[in-house]
Amino acid sequence: MDGHCQESSGKFMECLHSQGLKTGSIYFPGGRAKYQGEEVNKKLVEPPVFNYSNETNWRQNIDTVIEWFTVDNLDFIALYFGEPDSSGHKYGPESTQRKNMIKQVDRTVGYLRQRIQESGLEPNLNLIITSDHGMETVIKTNEILIRTINNFTFKDIDFELLDYGPNGLLVPKEGKLEHVYSVLKNAHPKLHVYKKEEFPKRFHYANHPRITPLVLYSDPGYVIHGRFKVQFNKGEHGFDNEAMNMKTIFRAVGPAFKKGLVVEPFESVNVYALLCELLGITPEPHDGSLEVTKPMLREPEDTGSGGDNEPEDNGSGGEHREKWWDWE
Ligand SMILES: [Zn+2]
Repeated sequence: MDGHCQESSGKFMECLHSQGLKTGSIYFPGGRAKYQGEEVNKKLVEPPVFNYSNETNWRQNIDTVIEWFTVDNLDFIALYFGEPDSSGHKYGPESTQRKNMIKQVDRTVGYLRQRIQESGLEPNLNLIITSDHGMETVIKTNEILIRTINNFTFKDIDFELLDYGPNGLLVPKEGKLEHVYSVLKNAHPKLHVYKKEEFPKRFHYANHPRITPLVLYSDPGYVIHGRFKVQFNKGEHGFDNEAMNMKTIFRAVGPAFKKGLVVEPFESVNVYALLCELLGITPEPHDGSLEVTKPMLREPEDTGSGGDNEPEDNGSGGEHREKWWDWE
């Protein structure tokens, strides 16, 4: 990485720390990272093998968050839940298991909001709930298996990154690029093969130094298998981000936000600038813009007391509920 603070790299907390804010992280991906030698003030890092779905553990983590805010006076805490990602992969997005997990997530959001209220943090704390992707059901017929494609051989390949869902990265051997490209190009109706420079610009892969000369991606539902089938997930993500099932949620509530506002869908890359604005720090160079989320924020003179604190909703997917935090 290049040393910029990016929330996607998990370095955001360390960056805040370096700008004088007290930060915490619970199970957030990248929580082990150091930024310019500095760590977050407080963190819990999950062990390598960890059950992400334990509801009691989720509530304990919420209690820890409340304690860090009220006793240790932290300014920012990132709290991560590995669900409904795990159950979505394992059982598929339409499964009962995943639907039950959504209910568990919903109860947990309710618990979080209840604890924020009880602890007196509500007038000062801005809460953002979001994730990094949706989930698509994996189609198990007419699968893409690269090894079986006519005239394709792994002997022509120097480096491969396959079996990670709908994306594939290939470095053909010296002089083999055109050949590999032509044998893969129209090999499967759901498989798209591009030379790096021809990859659709909207994916931000074309010409990127970390992207390989050949890039593969598949249509929603189809995953790319390499030498053997080693990937048996029933749900997957990483498909075209224009597909509705890849879209995620964004909800925000707190003193900085207008109430009951529903906004148009926006790209998550813009969340970073919003976090910086809320925390009053200077963003590092980034690809998003505050302009996208600014309409959600209250004007400084608008104190907006009272009301029933409706959260914002960017309407980008999921079942909409009148009061999404209600729980029994
Ligand atoms: Zn996942």
